[in-house]
Amino acid sequence: MFSKILIANRGEIALRIIRACHELDIEAVVVYSEADKDAPYLQLADESICIGPADSAKSYLNIPRIISAAEITDVEAIHPGYGFLAENIHFAEVCRECGITFIGPPVEAMQLLGDKIRARELAHKVGVPVVPGSDGALEKDSDALELANEMGYPVIIKAAAGGGGRGMRVVHNDINLRSAFSSASAEAKAAFGNGTVYLEKFIVEPRHVEVQIMADKKGNALHFYERDCSIQRRHQKMIEESPCPILDKRTREQLAEAALRIIKEARYDNAATVEFILDEEKEFYFIEANTRIQVEHPVTEMVTGHDLIKWQLKIAAGEPIKLSQRNIKHTGVAIECRINAEDPERDFAPSPGTITRYIPPGGPGVRIDTHVHQGWTVSPSYDSMIAKVIVHQKTRTEAIATMKRALREFVIEPIKTTIPVCLDILSHNLFVKSKIDTGFVERNF
Ligand code: ADP
Repeated sequence: MFSKILIANRGEIALRIIRACHELDIEAVVVYSEADKDAPYLQLADESICIGPADSAKSYLNIPRIISAAEITDVEAIHPGYGFLAENIHFAEVCRECGITFIGPPVEAMQLLGDKIRARELAHKVGVPVVPGSDGALEKDSDALELANEMGYPVIIKAAAGGGGRGMRVVHNDINLRSAFSSASAEAKAAFGNGTVYLEKFIVEPRHVEVQIMADKKGNALHFYERDCSIQRRHQKMIEESPCPILDKRTREQLAEAALRIIKEARYDNAATVEFILDEEKEFYFIEANTRIQVEHPVTEMVTGHDLIKWQLKIAAGEPIKLSQRNIKHTGVAIECRINAEDPERDFAPSPGTITRYIPPGGPGVRIDTHVHQGWTVSPSYDSMIAKVIVHQKTRTEAIATMKRALREFVIEPIKTTIPVCLDILSHNLFVKSKIDTGFVERNF
């Protein structure tokens, strides 16, 4: 096992990783920007090192500074968390060249699965259904037009390098296709340095269901069941739960098995999420694989009792997973609500500022993953997610009741948060019946 690692991230996930390190007797070094210099989790780390100003390009995304911090502190490995450099192939390569273990998959597996077009091809090759769409990249808008007419609208244009919903456009007719093609490509080029796009049939009113995988360096790969992440706004997840309430046993097994086939074919190790969409007939289609730990990993931890960050650390250090699939049990129901510093009444505009009153919820079945506290200033420089509330109960009805009770207890003032909208969703009759799809939030709120 490692004796010292560096965490190349901030906020709740940095704190989450520090906690896992300490339970495994690993020293944790955390990097921070000037905007985060007062974060209390820096005190919990064994060492902390400033890597630049608030602007992420000059700090959390600055590879030379992070590598220098790793060298100065003499760590054996770097955990990238999620976001920032977590899926940056160049960063993983630099780590390898510097003799530092990247706590994530091998570079080759990142290259393969990080390119959504190559990942689609791989899924197809191993017999996993993919959404009907283009064979590889689309060169010109006229090719997109031809294919869209052949398949019929609506279609979705997606970026090969996409993430966070960027470079994605839903198109309903010929008139909008050309502009959507060029704007998706330009957005992807600006965000990822790669403007390659492809096209898929837009599945109407699907559910988003994803499978959590852990694989070790010896070729063992296990699934940790699925999460339903259909509560989304602008293709961004808001509420996640496990298990997916509408899956029958057979589909659940098929989904997990399909995810494992993709991961094994990619010669993957460490944590992965294989994402699918489920149509009205409950047919599933692969959409992408994420080569990192996900924001929503706690729901899986609650229902399986496994600490996924500890698994990431152990696997990266070369430990085999000495478990069989049968040993991974699923108990009860877990739900997570992402609490964002956003104003739902102003179209979810960011709501940064100082928190003057902060009272977190607690009690049975409640877990809070956050780095914020009374007096903390939410910076406009970073993602607006400031906390995650996770509940675990025996049944979905009880889990919803616990979540509503926890959210009502949660005081974060005076900034605006997504707590009220989460409460409205949880109280909605269709959510209670789980008659939801990825368009539910936009249609109803
Ligand atoms: P990103 O990597 O940018 O998050 P994804 O490929 O994971 O993009 O898609 C994000 C969300 O967009 C999905 O959860 C789903 O809601 C929606 N989506 C993606 N592809 C399709 C599709 N072909 N049909 C319908 N919805 C889709």
